[in-house]
Amino acid sequence: MIRVTTFAGRRVAVFGLGASGNAAALALLAGGADVAAWDDGEAGRASAERAGVPLVDLREADWSGFAALVLAPGVPLTHPQPHWTVKAALMAGVEIIGDVELFFRERAAIAPGSPVVAITGTNGKSTTTALIAHLLRGGGKDVQMGGNIGVPILALEPPADDRYHVIEMSSFQIDLTPSLAPTVGILLNITPDHLDRHGTMKAYAAIKERLVSSARHAVIGEDDPWCLAAIDRRNKALGDPSASGSGDHTTPIAVTKPMNWGCFLDGRDLVYQGVRHAYHYTTPQPGFFLVEAPRDTVRLNGIRTLRGAHNAQNACAAYAALRALGIPHRPIAHHMATYPGLPHRLEEVGHLPTPSGHRVLFINDSKATNADSTEKALLSFPNGIHWIVGGLAKDGGISSLVPHFSRLARAYLIGASSDAFAETLTTAGVPFERCDTLDIATRRAATVVSGATGAEPVVLLSPSCASYDQFQNFEKRGDAFRIACRELPGFVAKAP
Ligand code: ADP
Repeated sequence: MIRVTTFAGRRVAVFGLGASGNAAALALLAGGADVAAWDDGEAGRASAERAGVPLVDLREADWSGFAALVLAPGVPLTHPQPHWTVKAALMAGVEIIGDVELFFRERAAIAPGSPVVAITGTNGKSTTTALIAHLLRGGGKDVQMGGNIGVPILALEPPADDRYHVIEMSSFQIDLTPSLAPTVGILLNITPDHLDRHGTMKAYAAIKERLVSSARHAVIGEDDPWCLAAIDRRNKALGDPSASGSGDHTTPIAVTKPMNWGCFLDGRDLVYQGVRHAYHYTTPQPGFFLVEAPRDTVRLNGIRTLRGAHNAQNACAAYAALRALGIPHRPIAHHMATYPGLPHRLEEVGHLPTPSGHRVLFINDSKATNADSTEKALLSFPNGIHWIVGGLAKDGGISSLVPHFSRLARAYLIGASSDAFAETLTTAGVPFERCDTLDIATRRAATVVSGATGAEPVVLLSPSCASYDQFQNFEKRGDAFRIACRELPGFVAKAP
């Protein structure tokens, strides 16, 4: 745990007692703060009390006595309307911050030069964060990974000069972190999301951009207009790196186009064209010429945990971040090939040998709770996909996926969306069957696919839907799929 000493002897309100709120309260207490913690829910208060967090009903508290309000990122700061604690803090002139802010203040106090990589973006944050942690650990570094993934940031070990913190950050966390100053900041992509909480796309993008504008070195995706504008602004603020020769402060990444420099895709190869060095001269007139570093390449083709162009974007970001930290090409390329992947994101569960000598792959993509995510999955495999789909449908259902339906061999419908999805599939001429539940769908797909003759046919659970009609969450849905696969006679589970 990180002892937060920057509020020692002062009174701090903590609101929202989930995992990160509890960790913040305990970290403040350990550092000598006087903590007053609260949650609107009885369950949150009870678990905090058991952990030793002092509860104070903040509705009746004297707000003028607080040095800060530490707010959980899930609590509305501005939209749809400020939470009552936010209003109370603003009325009393109390600053409102989050747990990551406490981390950065403590780092500034005890190890200001310690390496911190912060990752944001609308999609791919967890994959990129886990990949960076894996690559650094592979190189023997002391790595602490957390934030919006796994462990709350203040439950990690404290910053130190030779310890790497790899931190996933949501836009809500960035919003509560005015002292954000990572060594390397990564902005993967920006597409519409959480607009109910941020008001407009412009406001949402501006919050995301703050993570890279505050970073010593930035890695930014060039594949969408919002990120492209962020690169432009950073280059204007710092001097265009490709022209000034001081180019070690921003690395552009792209998967939709080749670039002169940065980290990008060439076919399925990741290419890193290092920064250019500028040799300045003054006669006959001032100028400079540029020398490019050697091109480095990583073959992504055989890396089964990084399938698809979306994962190539994550791989480019991770690679560029490690180069920015001064880590050379060879160990990065070596360890990228052993990335184990994250559960429920195109996770290879195992395979089933068919009578004709083929292997049918079973893929768990339960994290795909909308059509955009499923699109990434459909584009990651060759044609002939056996697709298990359904649950609680999002607006628009699966109609945006129609252009990719030629990749499907057959669909197996589960859950509450079955009627609506049956209509879309019928109109598009895709063969399907109604299976109702995931275990029936898995068995049916296994039976049908055993006659398939493709090189490596795929049974893909990528539901395009929330799970709540049949499961507690997407993790439970993915776990149920794994169990159903393992119960298939002859199924060969992938070794963990
Ligand atoms: P996040 O933490 O941002 O939710 P994850 O790494 O958990 O991201 O991936 C969630 C889903 O987002 C994946 O299942 C995939 O469908 C999609 N995804 C992953 N990486 C990207 C990317 N770089 N661009 C677009 N979509 C992506």
